[in-house]
Amino acid sequence: MNEFAPVPEFARGPEIPDAGYLVTELGGGAYGITSGMVNTMFLVTKNGVVVVDAPLDLGGNLLAGIEEVTPKPITHLIYSHAHADHIGSAHLLARDDLKIIAHDRTAEFIKKAHDGNRPLPNETFSGTRRELDIDGERFVLEYKGDWHLPGNLFIHLPEHRILTAIDSFTVKNAPFFRLLFTPHVPTYFAAMDLMLEYDFETVVSGHMALFGTPDDVQTHREYIRDLRTSATEALREVDLREAAAAAGVPDDNRQARLKVWMDAVVARATELMPASWDKRLGGTDICLADNLSVVAWSAFMD
Ligand SMILES: [Zn+2]
Repeated sequence: MNEFAPVPEFARGPEIPDAGYLVTELGGGAYGITSGMVNTMFLVTKNGVVVVDAPLDLGGNLLAGIEEVTPKPITHLIYSHAHADHIGSAHLLARDDLKIIAHDRTAEFIKKAHDGNRPLPNETFSGTRRELDIDGERFVLEYKGDWHLPGNLFIHLPEHRILTAIDSFTVKNAPFFRLLFTPHVPTYFAAMDLMLEYDFETVVSGHMALFGTPDDVQTHREYIRDLRTSATEALREVDLREAAAAAGVPDDNRQARLKVWMDAVVARATELMPASWDKRLGGTDICLADNLSVVAWSAFMD
């Protein structure tokens, strides 16, 4: 039985055609492409195509989508980060003369993964910034902290005013599980501030069928701040001893005591979340407990 609220109209995004993908013009030769579950972008330059990522769920449809708009060859592939759901179709693009660009940390991660579907990058950089000029088009790659995975990049196309920040947030939808699996909640919060320092009108964030705007980043930041406010207040209100006693957990089962305490914190934080979010984001009922749990543990420990 489906226990979830229907997806509100504003959070749905466009219908995905039967072919399984949709290409959207982002202007100036830039395109977004989505399978509905994942998305990314590519730029058609004078001599070829520069692609960010090759998501697993798009598979060969990435090539089909590019062929739909240009016969030019793919010359560059930039990895946003190493996760297989975003670059697990890269082997379909691989050719001897394809430049695959990534941060050193991403290369290290892929090396350890021993996954033939994720070819190693052949052009890497260390440090926090690399600016590329590809056929006169500027790509600024910046590594500003591990908000999602070591090596994760903000990829900025200043002239096109596009920011690609894969797995940073979900446009018009509440975040996936555990704030998209961030390893460090404070760094994840800080990433929203960093994104808003860029000059952009479109943000490509990696999941669902929608591309976003600075307003969407701001809304997401407001939402996660509400998660933190609710979790912090719940931590103040819910007492570990009382929660354990209420659940009948004996003193010597310390791990179970922590578990029932955190469950009670999350339940209270859920009540404290403003109900108005249901009208501003889709999926607020799906991963709320997951997200409150990571934010509450972070508020407790970080
Ligand atoms: Zn990821």
